[in-house]
Amino acid sequence: MTDNNQQFASDNYSGICPEAWAAMEKANHGHERAYGEDQWTERAAEYFRQLFETDCEVFFAFNGTAANSLALASLCQSYHSVICSETAHVETDECGAPEFFSNGSKLLTAASTHGKLTPQSIREVALKRQDIHYPKPRVVTLTQATEVGTVYRPDELKAISATCKDLGLNLHMDGARFSNACSFLGCTPAELTWKSGVDVLCFGGTKNGMAVGEAILFFNRSLAEDFDYRCKQAGQLASKMRFLSAPWVGLLEGDAWLRHAAHANHCAQLLASLVKGLPGVELMFPVEANGVFLQMPEAALDALRGKGWRFYTFIGSGGARFMCSWDTQEARVRELAADIRSILGT
Ligand SMILES: *Cc1c(COP(=O)(O)O)cnc(C)c1O
Repeated sequence: MTDNNQQFASDNYSGICPEAWAAMEKANHGHERAYGEDQWTERAAEYFRQLFETDCEVFFAFNGTAANSLALASLCQSYHSVICSETAHVETDECGAPEFFSNGSKLLTAASTHGKLTPQSIREVALKRQDIHYPKPRVVTLTQATEVGTVYRPDELKAISATCKDLGLNLHMDGARFSNACSFLGCTPAELTWKSGVDVLCFGGTKNGMAVGEAILFFNRSLAEDFDYRCKQAGQLASKMRFLSAPWVGLLEGDAWLRHAAHANHCAQLLASLVKGLPGVELMFPVEANGVFLQMPEAALDALRGKGWRFYTFIGSGGARFMCSWDTQEARVRELAADIRSILGT
């Protein structure tokens, strides 16, 4: 049966996936040591090290804003700056938290194409000013998959990390939808991170079927110094940590993390294929992850809202964003596409 309350406004409209839920259930027996000294946290960290094929440092935070902000803060001093895309979540959707937690490190926005930074756009910003009066560039942050549903290829990542090395910049990856990128490319997590020169990854769990939680992985372990204190000070150290970490065990011990991402990506492809070429609709970006961005007349968007559909329009003028989730029903995608068709009179 189609679930009529399924929406496409965001991939965090969905609930908790069965694997994460079952692991929470299993973790909910008896007493465990607190503040991350429990067996679930140990197991989750071990799964991450296996999955990424490296001995990385692993931390857990409640949400992506905290994970990104604290990770960035650990990569620079207050007088440094962080280069990001003009569409980056850290710039547009984190209420200044990266600047706040880093005690003032300035975000510098660089031009991006389809949400992606390039070596050239990074270079332009990094080399624009090199005098004492301007905050010194120290970090590049990029988003994989990007805020507009595109995906950096390994070659693009390697070119960016080479530029970072050249300019003395650390490389951070906001991986709120990292799973979707892995699924789209068929690459291993290692290939898309440390093997491509990424120093730190914030791996999103919430949008991939968890209730709450992001993992912060330091591939460059020296950058993780005192990160546990930073998390604690920021109110991000869960005392009953097992309930933040157990869901990761559920997602990572099988292939649920990848399967859910593949499903969400598939639904986005389906939606794109059903509306592509309709007069009055334009795909704004290549559909590579779980999001579809459509340019449509304002009246059509209003009519779509009138039919009860929810979606965000604050990215790109006149554009509507539709996000698919781990539990999105194909029938619901078809209903949305049919409503778009009928509104456009096709
Ligand atoms: C959702 C999201 C985050 C995390 O947001 P929170 O609401 O703080 O959990 C981070 N980066 C991107 C690109 C996102 O889409």
